Amino acid sequence: MSGARMLIGGELQEGRGTRIPVVNPATEEVIDEVASASEEQVDAAVAAARTAFKEWKRTPAAERGEMLHAVSALLNEKTGDLARILTHEGGKPLVENTDEMGWSAACFDFYAELGRAERGRVVPSGEAGQLNLVVKEPYGVVTAIVPWNYPILLLAWKLAPALAAGNTVVVKPSENTPLSTLALCEGLATIFPPGVVNVVAGAGEVGAHLVEHRDVSMVAFTGSVETGKQVMRAAAEQIKKVHLELGGKDAFIVCDDIDLDVAARGAVWAAYLNAGQVCTSAERFYVLPNVYDDFVDAFVEHAQKIVVGDPMDAATDVGPLVRAGQRAKVEEHLASARRAGARVVHGGDRPFERGYFLTPAVVVDVEDEMDLMRNETFGPVAPIARVSSLDEAIERTNASPFGLGANVYTRRLDYMLRCMEDIEAGTVWFNDPLTDNEAAPFGGFKASGIGRELGSEGLDDFRQPKHVHIDTKVDAKAWWYPYADYVRYQQEHGTAPG
Ligand code: NAD
Repeated sequence: MSGARMLIGGELQEGRGTRIPVVNPATEEVIDEVASASEEQVDAAVAAARTAFKEWKRTPAAERGEMLHAVSALLNEKTGDLARILTHEGGKPLVENTDEMGWSAACFDFYAELGRAERGRVVPSGEAGQLNLVVKEPYGVVTAIVPWNYPILLLAWKLAPALAAGNTVVVKPSENTPLSTLALCEGLATIFPPGVVNVVAGAGEVGAHLVEHRDVSMVAFTGSVETGKQVMRAAAEQIKKVHLELGGKDAFIVCDDIDLDVAARGAVWAAYLNAGQVCTSAERFYVLPNVYDDFVDAFVEHAQKIVVGDPMDAATDVGPLVRAGQRAKVEEHLASARRAGARVVHGGDRPFERGYFLTPAVVVDVEDEMDLMRNETFGPVAPIARVSSLDEAIERTNASPFGLGANVYTRRLDYMLRCMEDIEAGTVWFNDPLTDNEAAPFGGFKASGIGRELGSEGLDDFRQPKHVHIDTKVDAKAWWYPYADYVRYQQEHGTAPG
């Protein structure tokens, strides 16, 4: 036990619930055991957040912004330590975890400023002497429920806008990767007034308790579609605001007018980044017919060069999958595709005895009916299909219940405009896969989610608009009772119904 502590009402506390082992996926060793929050501790965190909300809501936005900048500074200062913890608990290569800290810090800086830029608008009024305002208000206590693949980044995408909007927050990290978030608690306690940010550890039951809690006004959740449905069902009981960032099955379209080697390198990275455990991983490739064979050759050539190994090693490109169960699911996708006639032309095997590693796989002769092409794989597998035209590629891209992101490689403006207009996805990347921009919204169409993170949209998701109508004249209105007077008024003004 490292004694990693949670943050409740400004106090660092150990959990009093079940202990959950944290496993290093590269070695299969238990590196720590984290005690979950008991029900009483979750209730105490929500109560502290509810109490703190009254003051926090009134705290000047510029002051809140200073504190968000301080979180950014904390992340920058602790980047090395946090990246190492993340690598041990999640298996993502150290270089990627280091990047994750930089992106997370940038998110706090962005919302520190955006949160003080505006809180609504003025609408032209119906009469002289009136003022119509739209005032954007926080919801109250927000719970931020986070997955294991980008524990700090996806926390930042919720925590920063939620706080900037004036909400208080109860965070629940994934039970697979709680250590990096818990390592932030001490720093957060020095930055925010007690109760503004609370962190509770635990698995699904702790998350479910937060979602069902009467004093939690909004749920900001990132995770799988199945859990997202449970969250939405539970929230429906109280018509509670939900913000859902769920799974994907992103398509990657390769047109016939580009440098295939660059496209293949981009494609390999988009498929295998974080061992394919990115919600926007490229999981299906549609390639135009005249470049298909050359693209597959180039893809395999680059896939063969990938260094799979110890994620702490600076030369490692791809680390292990997060858990044995996750690897088994990916292997089953590969096996069922093989049974249905697909060919694995590279990878798909276990390179080491220990650790949940899988060699990045390239699969051809795939059909859209295969699980591998339909359901989220969340592993280092690239199924590549030949399409007859861009129309077919777009049609097959859209024939999915998911709509998180999509990638297209082309230089042709007419192709870009077609894809921009017709692809059903929250992000469409051209020639630069998976690049986020904290000033632009991120989220899914269709089953990939509800709401957006990042951008001004990501702040608005944590605010509810209130229309304020002010009449400074305080005069009696013609349309009030008695209606006999109102009808006479209408006749005199020629507005009576015919
Ligand atoms: P998950 O759904 O298993 O868990 C996510 C979080 O929800 C965890 O903290 C978990 O403890 C908690 N949880 C579990 N059951 C719950 C319940 N009943 N009520 C409330 N909380 C509950 O997901 P995961 O395996 O941690 O993450 C992988 C999934 O996340 C993939 O499907 C991936 O596509 C998705 N994801 C989406 C995005 C996005 O932005 N759209 C980003 C990253 C990951």
